[in-house]
Amino acid sequence: MNNMLKFLIELQEIDRQLFEIDEKKGSLPQQVEKLETQAAGVKSELENTRVTLEENQKELVTIKGGLMDAEEKVKKYQDQLYLVTTNREYDALTNEIETVKAEMSEMEGRQLSLETEIENLEATITTSEEQSTAFVEQLHANRDELKEKSDLTDAHQEELEEQRVELIKNISERYLRKYNRILKARKRAVVPIERSACTGCHKQLNPQTIYEIQQMDKFIECENCGRILVHIPGDDD
Ligand SMILES: [Zn+2]
Repeated sequence: MNNMLKFLIELQEIDRQLFEIDEKKGSLPQQVEKLETQAAGVKSELENTRVTLEENQKELVTIKGGLMDAEEKVKKYQDQLYLVTTNREYDALTNEIETVKAEMSEMEGRQLSLETEIENLEATITTSEEQSTAFVEQLHANRDELKEKSDLTDAHQEELEEQRVELIKNISERYLRKYNRILKARKRAVVPIERSACTGCHKQLNPQTIYEIQQMDKFIECENCGRILVHIPGDDD
């Protein structure tokens, strides 16, 4: 057997594994990024809810203060009613009292809806906080898992790259150039034959070519796709 072909088969296997690692690695950072985006979304939603709650609480304090002022005003006007001497003064005061009472009724309505909204917001925050905590825990667990996977992958990749460097020392520049050129274009440069055909492009091969490939002492390219054709013992020819 031509040793160069044997080395090319080994090189192809290393490159196949490196290609797989590249594909796997590609999705790892994306997975982490997606989780981080989701976690940030939950957090910012929670912050928005807190801001709304704070605004409502402030408005409630203002309303309550306004109601107290209005009550005092009404009391003051009612006290003045005893002191009036004319009907005109009396009517003016009762009008004032009615106006203030109308304002109070409006404020009481707002107070009620604010209190309901605050209750709802507080319940939302409690639920969101629980969700957020669970989510952050999940994120940390996933991140650790991904990091671990990534480290393992990095170690494997490094090992394969070292093997590759050693291996290509045995392959002549001419073969290596050809191999790299086909690999770039076709992903797989060295392919076995199966059922009398190239497994890269399924082109049927003539018996003479098959015989020559089985001898494994010549560098034979598929005339259709250009891949290097090899015979792997035990394969169906
Ligand atoms: Zn082919």
